[in-house]
Amino acid sequence: MLKNKIKENIPVCGLCGREIPDHVPQSKHHLIPRSKGGKKSPVILLHHQCHKEIHSKFSDSALAISYNSVNKLRNSSQLKGFIRWIRKRPPGFLSRTKRPTK
Ligand SMILES: [Zn+2]
Repeated sequence: MLKNKIKENIPVCGLCGREIPDHVPQSKHHLIPRSKGGKKSPVILLHHQCHKEIHSKFSDSALAISYNSVNKLRNSSQLKGFIRWIRKRPPGFLSRTKRPTK
């Protein structure tokens, strides 16, 4: 299958809602972790940074039981602050790299 890269068709992050440009690290998140039997659960595309944030806040069990949908993740008190913060960053922003020191 040919995969045409169409510039206008930039995917959007399932967590923060910002675009995910080609050059930005990205990864897929199983709404139910594979370790909890979620092998066939829906997968969402995320910034790698957002993905890391999810797993730093929740255990696989918590994800499988309480945070198994995009809405639940987005509305969780644990991630709200992060989402609000990351939304103000440009899409290509990578955490803690090339931050000018004051
Ligand atoms: Zn994101």
